[in-house]
Amino acid sequence: MRRSILFSLYIFVIGFCTCLVMIALARSLGNNDKKEAKLSKNTTFYKLGQCPDCKVISTRHWKVGKLRDNNDLHLVSGRLMGIEPFASNAEMEEKLPGLLRRRKLKALKEEADTYRLKNLTHSEPYLVPKAVDLLEEIGERFHDKLKELNLPSYYLMVSSVLRTNESQQGLGKRNVNATKNESSHIYGTSFDISYKEFLPKHEKPAPEGFCRHDMMRHPLAEVLTEMSNEGRCLVVKEVKQACFHITVLE
Ligand SMILES: [Zn+2]
Ligand SMILES: [Zn+2]
Repeated sequence: MRRSILFSLYIFVIGFCTCLVMIALARSLGNNDKKEAKLSKNTTFYKLGQCPDCKVISTRHWKVGKLRDNNDLHLVSGRLMGIEPFASNAEMEEKLPGLLRRRKLKALKEEADTYRLKNLTHSEPYLVPKAVDLLEEIGERFHDKLKELNLPSYYLMVSSVLRTNESQQGLGKRNVNATKNESSHIYGTSFDISYKEFLPKHEKPAPEGFCRHDMMRHPLAEVLTEMSNEGRCLVVKEVKQACFHITVLE
């Protein structure tokens, strides 16, 4: 009799412990799968909707204007402040060193504090110096907004810079917008910043299905609204290319 009680107790304890272990295991597996994937110590990718930084951004109210400045205005500023457009890529290669020497154009930094260059397929990383200053100030003011919320820095992703008439036409084959209207990118006064993708400081782009921090578009749009109200730049939100097209003003 006593033996059978002991045996039942034994079975009960074993069963109970097994349950606890299973629950703990299921929880830890579920958490990993749901929230994050760790590649190395400093590289964390979050599943969509699970990113803590984007959650902080989404709880705030951001003051954002329409950001729909007409393309004609971008062109007027481009002609006023920009370079003589290059007819071909070969012409650009030939004239670029002289323009850089005379400080008519300036190269964007490979390792800037606030932005990174996306894979530029139809443009080259050069702008008139005033436009480089503008880009740097946008980056600094964007970072200040993140800092105010105790968030870490994210790089802006610059997706298009200086184009030639030749590269502009190449783009036209795939992009109706580019052929319909002339683009101020040929004057070196305009650049595009992606609003779909922001790069964390570890600089590893998130794989498909993980957060690319598009919530950061709100503080960026607020900076652009402020600077546009200050008369510093023209801005248009381009839906097809998922970017802000920005042109420097005098
Ligand atoms: Zn995020
Ligand atoms: Zn653009």
